[in-house]
Amino acid sequence: MTTAEKMTPQKWAFQLTHILNAYAGPDRFPVDVKSLARDYSHQKYPDDPVSMIKGAPLPTFDGGLYKAPPGKKGWGIIYNDSMQSKGRINYTLAHEFGHYLLHRNDYPNGIECGEQDLVRWDSDYGQIEHQANVFAANLLMPLDDYRNQIAAKTKVDLDMIGGCADRYGVSLTAAILRWIEYTERRAVIVVSRDGFILWARSSKAAFRTGIYIKTAGRPPVAVPQNSLAGGLLTSENQRVGIILPAGVWFKESCEEMVVFSEQYDFTISVLQLDQEPDFFTNTNGYGVPTSAL
Ligand SMILES: [Zn+2]
Repeated sequence: MTTAEKMTPQKWAFQLTHILNAYAGPDRFPVDVKSLARDYSHQKYPDDPVSMIKGAPLPTFDGGLYKAPPGKKGWGIIYNDSMQSKGRINYTLAHEFGHYLLHRNDYPNGIECGEQDLVRWDSDYGQIEHQANVFAANLLMPLDDYRNQIAAKTKVDLDMIGGCADRYGVSLTAAILRWIEYTERRAVIVVSRDGFILWARSSKAAFRTGIYIKTAGRPPVAVPQNSLAGGLLTSENQRVGIILPAGVWFKESCEEMVVFSEQYDFTISVLQLDQEPDFFTNTNGYGVPTSAL
């Protein structure tokens, strides 16, 4: 078994984060993935490095990891040069670097990644894509740093998350997906297109209190009509958000903000709910709600 097979995505990202912290200090963002992938791979695997990184016209892929042609050693990381967003390119490079570190031995002919592979972070979607995304998110947006920018209990607005997207050199979409992973608030991200929900993701606190939207294994779910994404949207309320009454998205009232991802052609609703009811927070240390005593 090789080293690459034993390492998890988190361990790889942690190891590289450690190196970057030591050499570049805390003000080192965004991560320069191009230099990192080249330098690190040449040092660690001089016989099998990332020997080329470049943009090229890729008709149906956002990025790929390709074996070097005969006579040349190593691997090439190629990103779709029609991508306009620097953040999206940076994220794609980190994702492909993750494939190189984690999967090149199992996929000797390389890997090609489409748009969905880069924005569906859930493990149900695809194991190696999930792993590459876990690596990219951990490398580009380390949680200890992200928590210093936005505390886990802080209610967010889109300017705050946009500031982090700039800091980490990623798209707003990626910054939102990372935030939902660690926030201790009750929040749900809903990604929709043409009035139907593609997928949704709840924060841990939201999930624990039964706030989630199931999309897998059922017919397409329509976006609620009286929501921002469903029709109440104006140019004024899109980023500021509005408070929606109980019964629109969930049994409880929630606040909705909306991001249009032109690059991905979908709408992201960021739903934030009040902190959890006492029933779930007031325990006596035995896991028994105090209200039940
Ligand atoms: Zn991929």
